[in-house]
Amino acid sequence: MSEKLGRPIRLENDANCFALSEAIDGAAAGKGIVFGVILGTGVGGGVAVDGRPLVGCNRVAGEWGHNPLPWSRDGERPGAPCYCGKDGCIETFLCGDGLGREYLARSGRHLTAEEIALGAATGDACAHDCLTVYKDRLARSLAAVVNLLDPEAIVLGGGLSNISQLYDGLTEHVGRYAFSDGIDTPIVPAAHGDSSGVRGAAWLWANR
Ligand SMILES: [Zn+2]
Repeated sequence: MSEKLGRPIRLENDANCFALSEAIDGAAAGKGIVFGVILGTGVGGGVAVDGRPLVGCNRVAGEWGHNPLPWSRDGERPGAPCYCGKDGCIETFLCGDGLGREYLARSGRHLTAEEIALGAATGDACAHDCLTVYKDRLARSLAAVVNLLDPEAIVLGGGLSNISQLYDGLTEHVGRYAFSDGIDTPIVPAAHGDSSGVRGAAWLWANR
């Protein structure tokens, strides 16, 4: 690509770019250690430290979506098969299909994540329960990140990050699982929405 375009190329994972964009001039601007999460058709994670992506020696730093769901309960094991070859990855629970699968199991009906969020806000008790379970799984998953990395901010992106009900009391909820009497980590929606990934790719040219 570099030869064809006649200029240098820098490549980075989309979640790393997302974290970078939000850490430099987004929802976590000015924070030193930022964990970025993409909750969408898949679940990605990326870490930015002092305005740079943390890549890792195997280039998998931040790929938390393919860890197992923490503090799994009866009924959550072994979990759904994941495309990565394992079962019960965080991604299988927190992606859009994961939320839809929970609703299907409880109601026998297929709804999208967006429809479930709307239902939860408009009196669908099953949708409300599904969102409550989803939020608890998200809190458990993020608590494991806090225990390992203790980021100064966690930024959520992707389609499911638009579900406003997720943010109510989420920090306190994560704190109940984290190894601490309580945490005050801001957990916030992305400032730049779907544009954050490409913005972060552009930011790969800064601060190096
Ligand atoms: Zn997986």
